Amino acid sequence: MASDTTLTSLTLAEAREGLLKRAFSSAELVRACLDRTDETEPKIRACLRVLRDQALADAAALDAAGPDPSRSLWGLPVTVKDVFLVRGAPSTAGSRMLESYMPGFEAGVVTRLREAGAVITAKTNLDEFAMGSSTEFSAYHPTRNPWNLSRVPGGSSGGAAAGISARQAPGAFGTDTGGSIRQPAALCGCTGLKPTYGRVSRYGIVAYGSSLDQAGPLARNVRDCGMLLAAVAGPDGSDSTSSRVPTEDLSALAPPAARSLRLALPRELWEGRFEPEVEKVLGAARSLLEGAGASLETVSMPSLRYSVAAYYVLAAAEASTNLARYDGVRYGYRTPAKGDLLSLYRESRTAGLGPEARRRILLGTFALSSGYYDAYYKKAAQVRRLIHDEYVETLRKHDFILAPVSSIPAWPFGSFTEDPLTQYQLDVMTLPLNLAGGPGLSLPAGLGGDGLPVGIQILGPHFREKALLEAGLLLESLFPRLPEPSFAES
Ligand code: GLN
Repeated sequence: MASDTTLTSLTLAEAREGLLKRAFSSAELVRACLDRTDETEPKIRACLRVLRDQALADAAALDAAGPDPSRSLWGLPVTVKDVFLVRGAPSTAGSRMLESYMPGFEAGVVTRLREAGAVITAKTNLDEFAMGSSTEFSAYHPTRNPWNLSRVPGGSSGGAAAGISARQAPGAFGTDTGGSIRQPAALCGCTGLKPTYGRVSRYGIVAYGSSLDQAGPLARNVRDCGMLLAAVAGPDGSDSTSSRVPTEDLSALAPPAARSLRLALPRELWEGRFEPEVEKVLGAARSLLEGAGASLETVSMPSLRYSVAAYYVLAAAEASTNLARYDGVRYGYRTPAKGDLLSLYRESRTAGLGPEARRRILLGTFALSSGYYDAYYKKAAQVRRLIHDEYVETLRKHDFILAPVSSIPAWPFGSFTEDPLTQYQLDVMTLPLNLAGGPGLSLPAGLGGDGLPVGIQILGPHFREKALLEAGLLLESLFPRLPEPSFAES
């Protein structure tokens, strides 16, 4: 059935208005999104599971009770990456290891989404355990980029971003350990926010790098990201790393005057090599900002040079400990082969984990081993501190840091699967934010001549998401609006 495009093209804020005015029901809106999902899935495969029956039942129950303006996401369809535990739905984290895992409890984010009245429509695809930048490492299938089906959607939250861009839902949640919200948002032409570490509960999210993981929204625009963040932000007693810093009121966002905006552009990120189309769009974005009166100042953050090395030691170290639980006994896939305990562990993990997860476990276990700990883990932790301090120092003199998200646009499948180090290097723009712990917003800067979207990010002071979103509104108003994605074949 063809989907109702008048409903699927609405932003979250517009859809909320329509729901509260009873212009349409939650069931109608949810059904339109599910139909659109059915229509676009054969092309992009953004979802690991579409929760059709449950979503329609949830929407019908909301409709029966009537619109509730006190619930900020009442009746609105939202997808979640398959690392968020949802009751009654398998949560695989993109891994064979968790293929048959049925959670008995729900992620804090999901609970809050439900309390706000949202309807969860799908669990979206990702690189296995959120390790990757292209969604090609999903154990199930890759996701394709709606702007060009021969290209990756970015990752690891590639399903979330592709789904937003294909209008499968107006809102999505992903996680960002080293760029996994911002980079796929940029490559798919949508908007994504990585909140400050600790702003959003990690309870019930399959862990990758616990000191870096942070959940956040993807949507069609900045305001919708604000709506989604507001619904889930704040302390959670079930997550000891969730912050007690009071949440800000995000209900009334207004862009600042461009003339008052002081942006720092780290030369370590801007002076690298860019693909020409990306360079053009980023150059135009800078000119638009300058033309509007914002001050753009090149700064130096020398420690950023080491962010890829530091991140891949720290993230792999944390991953190796987080993934140790999947041994076929305590958690995860268990091999049917009979043998001693060691071969049970070995065979379960060999069958359950893909090549990238295995690589990270080996790397991380090595970095943590006695004799190498000081040389790798400790050094990386020291570099992390330097990056954090440079970040804070830069934001003492400037309102925000402005940076590219990716030096290349969405790339063809298979470009880097044989060359993981080059793929790691591509993360250089996004990793520093996670090491510093601050919030960052990625939004479309424009479309390259190749028909692929290019993103830009602004990074702000810890726990100042409101100011960040407001600055995002200004940037969004200056940059060209993207057309609908083309679903081009090549
Ligand atoms: N690409 C980075 C990695 O592979 C970041 C992934 C993420 O943010 N989850 O680790």
